[in-house]
Order: sequence, then C-alpha cells, then structure tokens
Amino acid sequence: MYEFDQDQQFDYENDQLREQIAGALDLISATEIDFEIGTRFDSLQDYELDQAAQDLESIVREIETNALAQMGRCPCNFKWRPEGAGYRCLGGSHFVNKDEIAKYLKVSK
Ligand SMILES: [Zn+2]
Repeated sequence: MYEFDQDQQFDYENDQLREQIAGALDLISATEIDFEIGTRFDSLQDYELDQAAQDLESIVREIETNALAQMGRCPCNFKWRPEGAGYRCLGGSHFVNKDEIAKYLKVSK
C-alpha cells in the first residue's frame, strides 16, 4: 500500500511539473523567442521533467524581467523583484501578478 501511495505522489509531482512546463511554453509562445523551443519541450519523458522545468524557469524569468522593463516601473518609480506568484516593487507597496505579465505579453505581441 505504501508503494502505491508513493507512486501516486510521484504522478502528482509530474502532473505539477507538466502543468508548470505547459504554462512556461504558453508564455514563451507569446514572445518573439524562437518557437523551436516549444517543439523541444513538446513530448517530455517523466525523468526529463525536472530539468525541463528548471530550464524553462530561467527563460520565463528573463521574459518576465524584459516585459516588466517594457511595462515600466511601479507608480513610485521603483524597480521590480520576484516574489511568490509575481513581482513586488522595491518600495514594497505594488505587486504585479505573473498572469498580468502574461496578459501584457499576449496583448502586445
Ligand atoms: Zn511601488
């Protein structure tokens, strides 16, 4: 029974990773980045998921940073730094959700 639970946990983690990867690819597809990257991550084996999610995370971080640079600083003219599900300004009182950045990228494409 214990083994069964472990398997389930494993599947769950893989589902999370696949979701994370799909989200990253979705965001990347909203940008100018070569779409070849999408096909490279298209059909991943379970054992490749961790590394792929990490690779994509740094790409996404770069995309978001660039998008924020275009969107401009917060109303108090502070820069943004990553925090939780988005970015908070260095002043501390403004927050941009990653979803908003994704929306911005898609609209401005
Ligand atoms: Zn601010």
